[in-house]
Amino acid sequence: MLGFVRLGSRHRVDGSLGPVAPYEIRVIGDPVLRQRAVDVTDIDAKLVRLAGDMVATMYDAPGLGLAAPQVGVQRRLFVWDLNDDTGAHVIVNPEIVESDGEWAYEEGCLSVPGLTWEIVRPNRVHVVGRDLDGNEVSIEAAELAGRVFQHELDHLDGVLLVERLDEDQARDARRQVRDLMLGFAAEEPASRRRLSLR
Ligand SMILES: [Zn+2]
Repeated sequence: MLGFVRLGSRHRVDGSLGPVAPYEIRVIGDPVLRQRAVDVTDIDAKLVRLAGDMVATMYDAPGLGLAAPQVGVQRRLFVWDLNDDTGAHVIVNPEIVESDGEWAYEEGCLSVPGLTWEIVRPNRVHVVGRDLDGNEVSIEAAELAGRVFQHELDHLDGVLLVERLDEDQARDARRQVRDLMLGFAAEEPASRRRLSLR
């Protein structure tokens, strides 16, 4: 768990209030989302700062979880906050060591904005990794928490939720995703440049 003040109550309402997200979230079509992230070898001040910036970016979005590749960093860590009053958390070099059951959930992704699909995945997962002090962590999670872990771990392997769809969903998704990507391409370049300089 990250020990700093929660940022969740300071969401921007109209773009002019509150903190600015440190990162622009990468969207589908960006090759960084399709690469396997590499293990973290040093848990140092730079990594702690990255995790904090990822949390701020996640709250600004807002989202339940955010993986490093979504902010363009090819390292194996992700952050999450399930709105359960335990605040923001980070896990480094996470691995799913066990999973069971099945659970259907309407899943979305900050990197595929505005689209959701009902996706069936294992319900319960056992995840191990390290916290920002380098201590081993072991977490058993089911339902929403289990889903967030599986989704964020996929990001670390370069897998997006569109690859978890069944055939019928995938047919519709191809068109929806193409339209979404055309929308990104049509956005005014100057505004995207300004965002990326933050
Ligand atoms: Zn995602």
